[in-house]
Amino acid sequence: MATLDSKTPKGPLKDKWTSYKNKIDLVNPANKRNIDVIVVGTGLAGGSAAATLAELGYNVKAFAYQDSPRRAHSIAAQGGINAAKNYQGDGDSSYRLFYDTVKGGDYRSRESNVHRLAEVSANIIDQCVAQGVPFARDYGGMLDNRSFGGVLVSRTFYAKGQTGQQLLLGAYSAMNRQIARGKIEMFNRHEMLDVVKVDGKARGIITRNLITGEIERHSAHAVVIASGGYGNVYFLSTNAMGSNATAAWKVHKKGAYFANPCYTQIHPTCIPRSGDYQSKLTLMSESLRNDGRIWVPKNMDDVMAIREGRKKPTDLSEEERDYYLERRYPAFGNLVPRDVASRAAKERCDAGYGVNKTGEAVYLDFKSAIERYGKEQAKIKGINAPSMEKIIELGTAIVEAKYGNLFQMYNKIVDEDPYKTPMMIYPATHYTMGGVWVDYNLMTTVDGLYCIGEANFSDHGANRLGASALMQGLADGYFVLPYTIGDYLSNDIRTGKIPTNTKEFDEAEKEVTERINFFVNNNGSKSVDYFHKKLGKIMWEKVGMARNEKGLKEAMAEIKAVREDFWKEVKVPGTADEMNPELEKAGRVADFLELGELFAKDALNRNESCGGHFREESAETDGPQKGEAKRNDKDYAYVAAWEYKGEPADAILHKEQLEFNDIELKQRSYK
Ligand SMILES: Cc1cc2nc3c(=O)[nH]c(=O)nc-3n(C[C@H](O)[C@H](O)[C@H](O)COP(=O)(O)OP(=O)(O)OC[C@H]3O[C@@H](n4cnc5c(N)ncnc54)[C@H](O)[C@@H]3O)c2cc1C
Repeated sequence: MATLDSKTPKGPLKDKWTSYKNKIDLVNPANKRNIDVIVVGTGLAGGSAAATLAELGYNVKAFAYQDSPRRAHSIAAQGGINAAKNYQGDGDSSYRLFYDTVKGGDYRSRESNVHRLAEVSANIIDQCVAQGVPFARDYGGMLDNRSFGGVLVSRTFYAKGQTGQQLLLGAYSAMNRQIARGKIEMFNRHEMLDVVKVDGKARGIITRNLITGEIERHSAHAVVIASGGYGNVYFLSTNAMGSNATAAWKVHKKGAYFANPCYTQIHPTCIPRSGDYQSKLTLMSESLRNDGRIWVPKNMDDVMAIREGRKKPTDLSEEERDYYLERRYPAFGNLVPRDVASRAAKERCDAGYGVNKTGEAVYLDFKSAIERYGKEQAKIKGINAPSMEKIIELGTAIVEAKYGNLFQMYNKIVDEDPYKTPMMIYPATHYTMGGVWVDYNLMTTVDGLYCIGEANFSDHGANRLGASALMQGLADGYFVLPYTIGDYLSNDIRTGKIPTNTKEFDEAEKEVTERINFFVNNNGSKSVDYFHKKLGKIMWEKVGMARNEKGLKEAMAEIKAVREDFWKEVKVPGTADEMNPELEKAGRVADFLELGELFAKDALNRNESCGGHFREESAETDGPQKGEAKRNDKDYAYVAAWEYKGEPADAILHKEQLEFNDIELKQRSYK
């Protein structure tokens, strides 16, 4: 059995990373040329890691299932990336970013990792600016910042609503330089289907060429998994359609513990579901909560009139609107963290105040912001006594400059003009804080197997703050892994090439091939999506925004039943030796069907509410916090790391006790 040692260095928190870096073993440049590293995934985490490792001199083989690293899901990130630069002079610091992140994660993350993340955050911005990433700038030419939920400072760097795209182009350029030098060998359209262990160490992977169907063996001295999150276990999510858990799940089955699978982020501002035939949900960036105000009607009559089309939201006066976040959380208002905002929307909609036909929508309204910006602009331009029309025109231009592409996206999807009528939004699955367990070095419980970015569990505890995922992925890839992996690889300078003609590779390849052959030969009667939708429905209804013991037990049994039916009845058209998207999906859904059950098991085990995990049994029953989540630090201040034992229900729990020496555990209050 693997041991669960976080390998957190000793010493004061603020010095840990610096003194650790000074002491770990290095590999000299000549020896790096003899060492191979596999990186699975070339989104922001994998792309930055591959580029940096190659720049350092290692031979990198990078893999992605898309046709180019530029198409990784990271490209979808809209709102921004956090860094403690304190450009606004509003009191920010590394400590405050560290504090906000631990508090935002509801005190369920490892202090040492989060402090390191906050420390390197400023370097990320410098690195990306040097690459030419066009962050927004203010009038004086300084990099601009905006606010995101759960904090009281402005520390989010952004590039309009396309921050992920610009950052990914930066990482991709850095990778391309190394591809041209021959230091990165890029395998596009290749899916990793298993990891190969030799003498207990990760020494390679098995992949399928998604165009020809060829099964390939690749060896290396270390393997890095950077394959993104598993939000698509819910079928509907804001993630890219291809995002999946296969790489993470395969390494779990080979000995890497899977941590906190039940920690999922349900994002409050997404375009509501429109019907049963939908396969994707769309995020409206959290940055919109900087200026947008969230509300539902105060009176049920107005709710009904709006639903029946007798009234429009713009017909309601200020007094007739319930700005429920501002009412319940006066200190943070519309900028409460995502978990809090999502539950508050659910509470209003469950109480019957939802404003669309399904009763699952609230308004996000820019009227006040447009008027505020319009009046300011009129003053700046010296326009005396401007008409309301002029104010709206001037204010609209500012809102368009800040969020134009998001408004255009909304308009195209919903066919309503959000400058004139409030957007409708509802929470949707967005991000997974759980993932492969890693120690301080970002190594899993398998030697030589690392995991970075959204695929690991590390820094966000039970709830991720907005704009922190990009920060973590790039911190891991540019600034943490390149150091820590060297310490491990320094023992491999004399190992030589890892051969692939060994029994370990034979066995792994055989397993992969047998599974593929099963899928294409199984004469089932139901499509892969049929099962994925069934799984998603169970997950949303019983393991979604609110969870309870009865529902979780039912979910475990129901997911198991769907899984059994899947292996009997799944139908995969086409063959194995061609491009076959249904075959790709079948493998991914098979893994989701196991992960989903472990997810429910983890949620059942954690009989407390923390962050995005809300157990109905664990809520405050009176006092000013009535109805809010109730954490149980005495019994649950640990990371739940699960060891694979065959059936998900048989997984064994290992606990990493969390220690808080620099932060006092408090009830999270945003009031
Ligand atoms: C709509 C949206 C908006 C967001 N906005 C923000 C934001 O503004 N700020 C923020 O901080 N965060 C944001 N996030 C979260 C953030 O985008 C992600 O957490 C982050 O980009 C994940 O990066 P990653 O590199 O870990 O994984 P990804 O970008 O998902 O990359 C995964 C990579 O792994 C590869 N891969 C996966 N499986 C395999 C396999 N088996 N074999 C081979 N390759 C494989 C893929 O091809 C891809 O290259 C947003 C998320 C969404 C959904």
